[in-house]
Amino acid sequence: MRDDAPNSWEARADAHSFYGFTDLPTIEDRGAVVLTHGEGPYVFDVHGRKYLDANSGLWNMVAGFDHPGLAEAAKAQYDRFPGYHAFFGRMSDQTVMLSEKLIEVSPYDTGKVFYTNSGSEANDTMVKMLWFLSGSEGQPQRRKIITRKNAYHGVTAVSASMTGKPYNSVFGLPLDGFIHLTCPHFWREGLPGETEEQFTARMAQELEDVIATEGADTIAGFFAEPVMGAGGVIPPSKGYFQAIHKVLKKHNIPLISDEVICGFGRTGAVWGCETYDFIPDAIISSKNLTAGYFPMGAVILGPELTARLQAASEAIEEFPHGFTASGHPVGCAVALKAIDVILNEGLIDNVRALTPKFEAGMARLLENPNIGEARGKGLMGALEAVADKATKTPFAGDLSVSERIANTCTDHGLICRPLGQAVVLCPAFIMTEPQMDEMFEKLELALKKVF
Ligand code: PLP
Repeated sequence: MRDDAPNSWEARADAHSFYGFTDLPTIEDRGAVVLTHGEGPYVFDVHGRKYLDANSGLWNMVAGFDHPGLAEAAKAQYDRFPGYHAFFGRMSDQTVMLSEKLIEVSPYDTGKVFYTNSGSEANDTMVKMLWFLSGSEGQPQRRKIITRKNAYHGVTAVSASMTGKPYNSVFGLPLDGFIHLTCPHFWREGLPGETEEQFTARMAQELEDVIATEGADTIAGFFAEPVMGAGGVIPPSKGYFQAIHKVLKKHNIPLISDEVICGFGRTGAVWGCETYDFIPDAIISSKNLTAGYFPMGAVILGPELTARLQAASEAIEEFPHGFTASGHPVGCAVALKAIDVILNEGLIDNVRALTPKFEAGMARLLENPNIGEARGKGLMGALEAVADKATKTPFAGDLSVSERIANTCTDHGLICRPLGQAVVLCPAFIMTEPQMDEMFEKLELALKKVF
């Protein structure tokens, strides 16, 4: 794939672009895929090669790469009022309208929204809000945050501490006071002979035990993705959120739903918490919020946290936090349009309509002797590669087998993501049935070549 000319795009990318979250030996061997444009769910590279993007960018380009309405909404707002922030008592009209819309589509009758530039910053902001409450409500010791192993909540120092991935140890993270419970992945974490219900009960008991050991009055909040995304697309075990929520309510610990991936349709409902039937105390949103057309995150506070934060802020006359581009008017205009497109242009209906076909495609690939589990919800799925299906033993070796599958897919014009030993699929909501057939055909071909 790599063009070895000294001034090739690949060489120029290597020379001055610092790669994050990229397998460097693979890049050295194959070169970066340098992209120029997109059409629907397809992207094109500098050599004119076309790829079906089964990742939708990074879970977020759900309306495809050339939606005219989204580009027009951005252009219109750039022409009208290109930028502003949302503090010192000022904000744009777009910000006012987006906050109204977000509360309208949230599970809450009333509430308030705080804007950031990313999902990481939204999680960071939520943690600071909880710490602010602890201090102002006379419980300064209430600072610990509980998440789960394998969770992904971002890369800032706080959100990376919430993330339950071992790679963060290279940064000396997590910070003190971030506790990671067992990942609720029944297939991998269930004990021999344990039913899914028993597994869920064990997860809830683990939470009870940790609260007892740490002290309920030291815990500021519990954060969870409805379906873990970057952990490898892991839906919760049956009844998980009901069991966990019961424990949290008993100890007055807020439950925060990190809906950066699940929010706005990925699981077939507006919110992942809707799919799993729980109402969190706050929602973290990003990615699909703007269909990927503008970097933006939002903390959507339910009524109780809104009232408490309002009171705490009034007591010291302000909430001292915000980003230069918080509530950027172009971002808000794009988000308003993205929400309209997702909810009213049939995108979420398409997620629901395509889900049975998606599940059938995944089930077919599970017949491969080296695919141990096909899992997912709505239009997010993962195929877990195993060396031995009966014992669930993963493959050994330096380059993970999922990386080899993904590289082979790229060679055949399909972008999908290797995550641990799994290959992840999260197609755009605009995907058509023939495009979904193409996605599975290419993946099946890659599996045949690798195994
Ligand atoms: N939370 C979840 C569930 C995510 O999947 C991500 C990113 O993938 C984040 C938070 C962090 O968002 P960002 O990359 O915009 O900082």
